Amino acid sequence: MNSIKAIRGMNDILPSAVGAWQSIERQMRTLLASFGYEEIRPPIVERTELFRRSIGEITDIVEKEMYTFDDRNGDSLSLRPECTASIARAAIQSGLLRTPGQRVWAMGPMFRHERPQKGRYRQFHQLDVEILGIADASAEAELIVMSRRLWRMLGIDDPVLEVNSLGDRTIQKRYRKELVEYFSSRSAELDDDCRRRLQTNPLRILDSKNPAMQPLIEAAPRIVDRLDPAALGHFERLEAMLGEAGVEYRINPRLVRGLDYYTGTVFEWTTDALGAQSAVCGGGRYDDLIADIGGSASPAIGFAIGLERLVALLELSGVEPSIPVPHAYLAGIGEAGERSAHAVAERLRDAISDLRLIVDAESASLKAKLKRANRSGARFAFLLGEEEIRDGALTVRDLRKDTPQSSISLEGISALIAAADAAPTPALPDH
Ligand code: ATP
Ligand code: MG
Repeated sequence: MNSIKAIRGMNDILPSAVGAWQSIERQMRTLLASFGYEEIRPPIVERTELFRRSIGEITDIVEKEMYTFDDRNGDSLSLRPECTASIARAAIQSGLLRTPGQRVWAMGPMFRHERPQKGRYRQFHQLDVEILGIADASAEAELIVMSRRLWRMLGIDDPVLEVNSLGDRTIQKRYRKELVEYFSSRSAELDDDCRRRLQTNPLRILDSKNPAMQPLIEAAPRIVDRLDPAALGHFERLEAMLGEAGVEYRINPRLVRGLDYYTGTVFEWTTDALGAQSAVCGGGRYDDLIADIGGSASPAIGFAIGLERLVALLELSGVEPSIPVPHAYLAGIGEAGERSAHAVAERLRDAISDLRLIVDAESASLKAKLKRANRSGARFAFLLGEEEIRDGALTVRDLRKDTPQSSISLEGISALIAAADAAPTPALPDH
């Protein structure tokens, strides 16, 4: 029978790789908590309508990338392609917005039917961070310095920060008209995709990756030159804060981002270490989204980091995640030893908090059990036979050192583990 494979673009994260993920996740949680952010866990499936109304009808994500299906009641549902809309929905629904200045984050899988390639998958993971209810540019600055702190905490080189301002809806509307006039007058030079976008969502032309379109896009009117005094003031305030905090950035007037809900500041952290998939983090302000999906108007801003790309960056930087090895591998020897192995293991776990202990699970010769102990990566092998049961002790072998085995009472094991934790673990010997 042929074997069943995972869906293209949806990957297993295997035990050998999961250490890096856990290490990144752990550091993110620590950092977020230290900035006063709280976790929120919205569902993975939402009504399709939520994404249509927030991300926008005429965007790549909604037009061609969503996993959409009818459930058994005939409601159209979609796997979330991103998390901001879900968080906004949850905040409205739960009344979270009644207290302004909510700082929240969510982490988990997102789904987009894109062409799978290195750094681009159909199920991928994001850390999503949002500040709800703050209009001041200080929220932008906070998110940016926090992400900079994350790169440094993880030990990766700072990616490059690009920022832009898209102005509010009125400015965008006026600018859209101007863009349509500009590109219509040059429509013979547009590729098919851009010509289609000109009809449906002209701002998206600026997003085109086609090199042939770049000169035309370069010469297009720039939205930063069309900002009104309020938008300009906001942007300048952000620039001042970033300057004070020593954050390096580049203003990229072409940065429009692929979702329609953005107004005002948008930003992206990119790296040239990952090839074509260069964005590790993208975000911006979405002051109209909450009202658009039925809440009472509330400013908001957020960003999302792509975890697969971050894991890849960490690998490139050569930072080894520290994954704790098991303290011990406990093997019952003979029928009596095998029968009491779990009982003894439980006593040890009761006595020693954070003990990492594997219990051998299959009858075999002593030699085979020791081989399994070695393969487990554990520091010690604990052997439990009739004699040890009688003495209330374990025979202990240090699997990382060529020292003779010794008998240690169950009470004495705590001291052994404490001593092992206090010193660096010796490297695995070559077998
Ligand atoms: P890109 O320009 O690479 O398509 P994006 O602007 O569509 O990115 P966002 O929607 O802003 O991405 O999501 C934030 C981050 O999530 C991105 O910066 C990227 O790191 C990651 N990301 C987005 N799409 C994917 C994907 N298909 N596979 C892996 N990571 C992704
Ligand atoms: Mg994309």
